[in-house]
Amino acid sequence: MSQIAENLDSIKQRIAAAAERSGRRADEVKLVAVSKTYPPEVIRDAVNCGQRAFGENRVQDALPKIDALPSDLEWHLIGHLQTNKIRKVIGHFALFHGVDNSGLAVQMNRIAGEFGVTASILLEVNISGEESKFGFNPATLASSLDDLLPLPHLRIEGLMTMAPFFENPDSARPIFEGLRQLRDALSVRSGHPLHELSMGMSGDFEQGIAEGATIVRIGSAIFGSRS
Ligand SMILES: *Cc1c(COP(=O)(O)O)cnc(C)c1O
Repeated sequence: MSQIAENLDSIKQRIAAAAERSGRRADEVKLVAVSKTYPPEVIRDAVNCGQRAFGENRVQDALPKIDALPSDLEWHLIGHLQTNKIRKVIGHFALFHGVDNSGLAVQMNRIAGEFGVTASILLEVNISGEESKFGFNPATLASSLDDLLPLPHLRIEGLMTMAPFFENPDSARPIFEGLRQLRDALSVRSGHPLHELSMGMSGDFEQGIAEGATIVRIGSAIFGSRS
């Protein structure tokens, strides 16, 4: 068994165990394997183990990999997206996790409309309030959502956040809990389900699942640490 196969196996078991501890089913949590910095040969190893969903954070790295790999894979853009790259990415990704401001969302809607498609997106929220982090301010997201929900070429599937790095991953739990509570409040207020919660990475995905993550984004624990 390859190292990647072993790692994937062990991550899937940990996802299932974390889901079970919270009274959830393992299939309620989607694993996005974060393949950023890894070449297509390495990704193919994970594909051969049955992994279908992959996450990339840089447009210029992602597009050649998408071309080089089987066309039935599901690609997630997890990083910050610059408005001048929207044309390159619309139509190539199943889900955009890093939609972090209204201007970007408005432009994505316009270009998706030009292309005759609908883009599925998550709104990235800066729950921790760290200045270095991208994302909507949780305090003003409700009013932003009022403007964005009517846009016809966007499907707002839910919310995404990144916790700061903590020595003890349990310290990330309040951040994830904050995202879930914000989602619950916004979904009641707007009448829009906002089903997806993308929260949790290699170091803290079990805490994300405990707080209701429906998507975890895991890179180094599958592919090894990035140099
Ligand atoms: C790199 C990255 C991940 C994966 O991080 P790991 O610690 O390697 O699991 C998840 N989400 C985002 C937004 C990332 O940029």
